[in-house]
Amino acid sequence: MAKEFRIYNTLTNQAETLVPHKKDHLTFYSCGPTVYSYAHIGNFRSFLTADLILRTAGAIGWEVTYATNITDVGHLTEDDLSDPSGEDRMVKALQSKEGEQFVNIWDLARHYTETLVEDWHRLNLREPTVRPRATEHMREQIAAVQKLVENGHAYETDRGVYFSVTSFPEYGKLSGNTLDNDLEQTVRDVVVDADKRDPRDFALWKKDDKHLMQWFSPWGWGFPGWHIECSVMAMSYLGETIDLHAGGEDLIFPHHECEIAQSESLTGKPFATVWAHTRFLQVEGEKMSKRLGNFFTVRDLVAPESEGGKGIDPLAVRMTLLSGHYRKPFNFTMKTLKGNVRHSERLSEVMALVGHPEEGTGEYDGETGAVLQGMYERALDAMLDDLNTPMALAQLFGGTKMILGKGDALDEEARAAARRWLSDMNALLGVVYYDDAPAATEEEDPLAAQVEPLLEERAAARAAGNWDRADAIRQELSALGVEIKDSKDGTTWKRTTQI
Ligand code: AMP
Ligand code: ZN
Repeated sequence: MAKEFRIYNTLTNQAETLVPHKKDHLTFYSCGPTVYSYAHIGNFRSFLTADLILRTAGAIGWEVTYATNITDVGHLTEDDLSDPSGEDRMVKALQSKEGEQFVNIWDLARHYTETLVEDWHRLNLREPTVRPRATEHMREQIAAVQKLVENGHAYETDRGVYFSVTSFPEYGKLSGNTLDNDLEQTVRDVVVDADKRDPRDFALWKKDDKHLMQWFSPWGWGFPGWHIECSVMAMSYLGETIDLHAGGEDLIFPHHECEIAQSESLTGKPFATVWAHTRFLQVEGEKMSKRLGNFFTVRDLVAPESEGGKGIDPLAVRMTLLSGHYRKPFNFTMKTLKGNVRHSERLSEVMALVGHPEEGTGEYDGETGAVLQGMYERALDAMLDDLNTPMALAQLFGGTKMILGKGDALDEEARAAARRWLSDMNALLGVVYYDDAPAATEEEDPLAAQVEPLLEERAAARAAGNWDRADAIRQELSALGVEIKDSKDGTTWKRTTQI
């Protein structure tokens, strides 16, 4: 029987079985960082949840189209309150001491994007199918805002364009923040645009011809609100309804609530079926803060001491993060980190004993193989049960103990089984550097992968005179944001900028 993947859905407040719209093919979007600084271990706790979803889905044979964005337009420090009154985080970073090393704001964004990807690989996170940047999707964002204005969900003032919350009666369905609770008051307190129709209306476009990053729009020079980029990029790469959307718990409101309002007002369809959120990480029992000296970027921990880091094995950092369930508050401590340095060393000892999985993995044969297979199955079941990483890690540590305990007594069959086990456990948890992922490069166009088979099917339908099916496929392509053109040489396609 096919395995089920259960995950807690913030939208329904219960664990649910994931059912991809397309059989065995998950479409998945996870909110990425704003590139104004080095990403910290809290950010990476959320990115790790996304990585584990990808790996777990892969372990049951699903294909995953996984998009995670780069926010390289500085949204506002007060944007938590959905109002364009705060300072821009990227501008602030450029004006700081560290900012002096950059030529301009674009250089700053480029630097922190590159270092994010470096840290991503250090922590053994798999590459997404696509890593779209907000600045590269400006035309689509403007088109989306325009459409929202046209269909009456948004309006313009002297200072910007706002989404009208009352035009979307389901506003609040994700977070529970509706019209009549305290939040309205909090937002009202920071309102700076007296022309807003409702204090809760949030910015889609901010007019500003002095800003360091600005684009020309039907409303003059300015830049987009924070929420619109994710709606637009998710729909461009994954379609109008995506199977799963993830991010840290702070994003439930306002970011994800606003993404839902905009997207569903654009398409009239549900935006994401399941919403998964990672609880915040704390360090030594307190909120991470530079002032308390408990603020760690990945590179603070893993860079060599000669470069100002602590020289800690990145896989030990990863295992530390794995040791807490993503939906429980997590306390990162130096003590647990040290314990995991030892666990990572023990995995190296296993590989010294039985060999690296790259040498060939064999089957789960013999007595040892059967025990290890059971451990892998339990780890997989744990991950399929709302990403129970503590349980899965317990299987990893149990197997490690058994293998090291048997030591030289392991025969060749048992060693091959152990390599197989290590390979399977790694595909699930990413605890050794061993790239067994299906290749995904940034050059690959995930949209093309969706479009080409549909075009082939349409050509076959037309050849067979099945015009209804051919029309249905054209509509499906149009929903993906694709326009097709038939000619005597065949059919070509292109992206449309409109959503
Ligand atoms: P930001 O760059 O602030 O937009 O954050 C990028 C991602 O990291 C978002 O999904 C946040 O929810 C998440 N995040 C930020 N701080 C933490 C934390 N302390 N623990 C877990 N996730 C976090
Ligand atoms: Zn987002």
